[in-house]
Amino acid sequence: MTSSLNDKTIVKDYFNAKGFDRWRRIYGDGDVNKVQADIRVGHQQTIDKVVAWLKADQNLNLRSICDAGCGVGSLSIPLKEAGARSIYASDISEKMVGEAQARANKLFGNTPDLKFETRDLESISGKYNTVICLDVLIHYPTEDAAKMIAHLASLSEDRLILSFAPKTFWLTILKKIGEFFPGPSKTTRAYQHKELDIRQILIDNGFAIARTEMTSTRFYYSRLLEAVRLR
Ligand code: SAH
Repeated sequence: MTSSLNDKTIVKDYFNAKGFDRWRRIYGDGDVNKVQADIRVGHQQTIDKVVAWLKADQNLNLRSICDAGCGVGSLSIPLKEAGARSIYASDISEKMVGEAQARANKLFGNTPDLKFETRDLESISGKYNTVICLDVLIHYPTEDAAKMIAHLASLSEDRLILSFAPKTFWLTILKKIGEFFPGPSKTTRAYQHKELDIRQILIDNGFAIARTEMTSTRFYYSRLLEAVRLR
């Protein structure tokens, strides 16, 4: 089995079992431990930044959006609330999608504006004005991330928004410490990516970097890049 197939199977199984329980709670509003609360705050900041970018463009209702690796709908739901009318959201984990669908149904009932599906992001088809993939690439080595980004780029007419854990000196040290003292929740590998590598992949796929952001709390680090298609 190739490493990418292996990683995908592990990631999928994780987010259908232990990872589902852990992340559904972190991405929810109930009680969590301190580390999880810190991650929740950091992740919410990433979401808020993306929503703010799309709102600032003032035409959210006219853009089709693909939320690749949508998790429990943490981005898609606020985008719908902000006025998006055409959101396609998918995730490799049926449990995460089930939770996302349940959360959306509670808020919006049955709406054609927001469609969820269980699907590996590399098998998504169609064309979308804006493709967004947040905090997914951490589960794959950079060579696999490159293939995923290339596929996401092929779906995107106008722009691609990605977030990833940046590979920096301090984070490398922190991760080493984490590997020496693996906690019970450390069941998947976390891959960091060099920002220059991700930028180059985006450029190679015909995009230019536009807005950028960085979110760091104590336990959450996420670099956010907006890439726009060159014409
Ligand atoms: N983007 C969401 C969820 C991040 S958690 C958010 O920011 O809230 C990472 C998610 O990526 C998990 O739900 C996991 O199931 C999903 N995922 C991992 N590999 C994937 C793949 N190859 N295709 C689609 N989804 C994937």
